[in-house]
Amino acid sequence: MIATGGVMALTRRARGMGLAAMHAEIDFEALRDRNESIEGRINRSITTLLESQGVRLVRGSGSLLDAHTVRIDSADGTEEIHADAILLATGSRPRVPDWAEVDGDRVLTTRQAYPPKEMPSHLAVIGSGVTGVEFVHMFSSFGSKVSLVVSRQQVLPSKDPEVASELEQNFIERGVNLLKGARASAIDRTDDGVIVHCDDGRKVECSHALLAIGSVPNIEGLGLDAAGVELGANGYVVSTGHHCQSNVSHIYSAGDLSGKLPLSSVASMQGRKIAEHVMGLHAHDHRHLDYDKAASAIFTEPEIADVGLAEADAFADGRKIRVTKVPFSASAKALIEGDARGFVKILSDPATGVVLGGSIVGRNAAELISVIALAVTAGLKVADIAESLLVHPSLAEALADAAD
Ligand SMILES: Cc1cc2nc3c(=O)[nH]c(=O)nc-3n(C[C@H](O)[C@H](O)[C@H](O)COP(=O)(O)OP(=O)(O)OC[C@H]3O[C@@H](n4cnc5c(N)ncnc54)[C@H](O)[C@@H]3O)c2cc1C
Repeated sequence: MIATGGVMALTRRARGMGLAAMHAEIDFEALRDRNESIEGRINRSITTLLESQGVRLVRGSGSLLDAHTVRIDSADGTEEIHADAILLATGSRPRVPDWAEVDGDRVLTTRQAYPPKEMPSHLAVIGSGVTGVEFVHMFSSFGSKVSLVVSRQQVLPSKDPEVASELEQNFIERGVNLLKGARASAIDRTDDGVIVHCDDGRKVECSHALLAIGSVPNIEGLGLDAAGVELGANGYVVSTGHHCQSNVSHIYSAGDLSGKLPLSSVASMQGRKIAEHVMGLHAHDHRHLDYDKAASAIFTEPEIADVGLAEADAFADGRKIRVTKVPFSASAKALIEGDARGFVKILSDPATGVVLGGSIVGRNAAELISVIALAVTAGLKVADIAESLLVHPSLAEALADAAD
């Protein structure tokens, strides 16, 4: 849906690209079909891949009867499986506060909003973290009026303030109504919409409300007690050591349930590392998963991506770092493509030149961050990026400039 909204946004920029004005309209049914088709293709290809490797897929609900026995309840009945090793990967679900009643109609969780049953005329998004801002971007691209309830003074409170401010600027230009320093505390249904009440007395009258205030682990009915698996104070499975093991050494947890970074990329890498560990396939050059080196992206406009050390964290630790920043307004390719918003920022060790982290705001940030992610993982130096002979014109040239 974000990709479709991006095409709509492109048509709005047509004039700036030397074209006559273009106008795109949403075909809601076609959009829904497209989503289902892509999801179906991904599901089918993964199913085929698993089956081709001899994996038996059992469609049902699993729970632990003890530390070695999994019970599966499915449409075909119940079966029990004895296992030497067990991987728990039941994920998480959106958090619903007690002051909100989700009906999937007007008051939605993030899982119910792509696509929603109807396009909101005015959507109030509650929560300005990664998920919240992506939904703000998506629905405002489609032309919905959007209000964003931001509990702090900065959208994306956990991100670099310079990065957050670029996005905030874009939201303001698009007419997004930002309610900063406001905490939603109640949602009332009206005849034709909802009213979101904030604890400071402000309220938003809108057609739909979307809750994007974090997630909770799927642990109910899993039989963790029966297997002796411990949970941390945050309700996620406790992880011991470097191999995603729970306190019961042959029971592992991966993905959102492990309470690490809630990213698909992290979940699948954990799965891979766990499989290697279970099978005793530790290569001599085995590397432990380093969550501090995970790249992540926010699919907004401009796109945002970062990896490794954050400037604020380095500052808080009193760590000396070199920070270099290059705006895309200096990039020939960005100007040619008619979108020169944003920048590249690279953090490195001033003594050794080793790349420690970076942020990118702008077109294709999620793709471009791979270069910095590779540098961070491989311990490359800024000179390795700066002295790469890159394509001209390309957005990646900004990386080399920032590394120079
Ligand atoms: C709106 C949204 C956008 C996101 N965008 C991104 C993104 O752009 N990039 C990114 O990297 N991450 C993204 N994420 C995060 C990503 O989706 C999760 O981190 C990832 O799906 C976690 O994988 P998982 O396997 O732990 O859980 P899930 O993908 O949630 O899978 C868990 C599965 O377990 C099943 N299950 C639960 N209980 C049982 C049981 N008892 N028995 C059998 N099955 C069970 C569930 O039905 C589900 O199918 C996004 C998340 C949201 C909500």
